[in-house]
Amino acid sequence: MALLSFLGAARQVTGSCYLIETHDKKLILLECGMQQGGNHNDNGDENGNRSPFTFNPEHLSAVVISHAHIDHSGLLPRLVAEGYRGPVYATDATSDLLEVMLMDAAHIQEKDTEWENRWRARRGKRAIAPIYVTSDAVRVLKQRRPVAYGECVQIVPGVELRFHDAGHIIGSAIVELTFKEPNNSTRKLVFSGDLGSTCSPLMRTPTVLKKADVVLMESTYGDRDHRCNEDTLDELADILQQAYKDGGNVMIPAFSVGRTQDILFHLGRFYQEGRLPQQVVFLDSPMAIRANQIYFNHHEQFDEEHLTMLRKRNISTLEDWLPIVRQTPSPDESMAINRIKSGAIIIAGSGMCNGGRIVHHFKHNLWRSDCHLVFTGFQARGTTGRAIVDGAESVKVLREQIVVRAKVHTLGGFSAHAGQSRLVQWASEFDTHPEIYLVHGEMEKMEILQGILEKKLGRPVQIPEHGDRIAI
Ligand SMILES: [Zn+2]
Repeated sequence: MALLSFLGAARQVTGSCYLIETHDKKLILLECGMQQGGNHNDNGDENGNRSPFTFNPEHLSAVVISHAHIDHSGLLPRLVAEGYRGPVYATDATSDLLEVMLMDAAHIQEKDTEWENRWRARRGKRAIAPIYVTSDAVRVLKQRRPVAYGECVQIVPGVELRFHDAGHIIGSAIVELTFKEPNNSTRKLVFSGDLGSTCSPLMRTPTVLKKADVVLMESTYGDRDHRCNEDTLDELADILQQAYKDGGNVMIPAFSVGRTQDILFHLGRFYQEGRLPQQVVFLDSPMAIRANQIYFNHHEQFDEEHLTMLRKRNISTLEDWLPIVRQTPSPDESMAINRIKSGAIIIAGSGMCNGGRIVHHFKHNLWRSDCHLVFTGFQARGTTGRAIVDGAESVKVLREQIVVRAKVHTLGGFSAHAGQSRLVQWASEFDTHPEIYLVHGEMEKMEILQGILEKKLGRPVQIPEHGDRIAI
């Protein structure tokens, strides 16, 4: 029988990573995510992203990635830097997005290390090397093996992989692995990946599966159903109306791939309905611009209702949907936005405002009481975004203390993760009474979900710890 070890995203939300050993000792890595958030320790290690793998990457036979978010894919370049030369299986859209995500992540690694080492040099500390560099990311891209939803591929002898739409971001997948045992029986593992929510209008409902022996399910919002309905959208529309009356600009920190596309979709809808008074929407994020292209390249994966609507109106680019959008990939185009004092919506990275182009827009807009700042995602402790949400009177931006006078709004409903009811529903659909293991969540939230599931299903639900090993 195959064994599965929980190496990441056990009782936490980042660093997704599971190692599977088949009955004939072949190793498959399911996910290779980066830990996110937290502080650097003295070795420059951010939450263990530098700690040695507990397996030898050279000994792996296959790697499977559920979707392109960095907490699921971000350590792939380190895996190849340490000797992995085999295939990286992901859906076609995820394979495309990996290029955007991993090249960006490698660039950030290189830049961050450069800064860190300058700081270290001044304190007489030894320099550190980046976790990985661009050439490692390039190498991963050559090892990609795109697989369409529903297609069945043998990834090692006796193990078949099939991806199903998880409805979270474009290309996101539920992973189904079928293991042929020596006695010719089969065992089925289903890993939910990140399951989508009702807040992502372009994404389909997560695929319902009926058969599994073991299920690993994410539990990010295991404790509640987040608000995502017309009220949230009306709130956003009202903020934009008010901002227009106030005469300044609106800043929206751009979140990871997925959220930004959702927001752009809603802005386009407001525009179509005559509810968007602003004259221009700047998409000032090279990563979001490239991700949009990938979304449109794979538009056949959009949900039926919106796909039909886009086809009917002959919409095949972002500009067709939101004619007032201006995409500004180059630094010069980005800087030109600084001259615009009113009537603009500026979407720029990073989502938690710890760097990226948004901080330049802070310098020009945050201190102005006629401007607005709209957060559409969670702000982690220690980030500039969190300080602003918590009511800081001023924040340090680009080595300058900037007073916060802009009106700050936090819209809670935009998560791309399934809420509690959807998780419970998805887990209840299996006909085969699989063992259920909750992953990718914070402990308190997982315990709430565990309680509800156990009551509904009438059998125990597990919350594995880091390092636990189970039989599939
Ligand atoms: Zn995700």
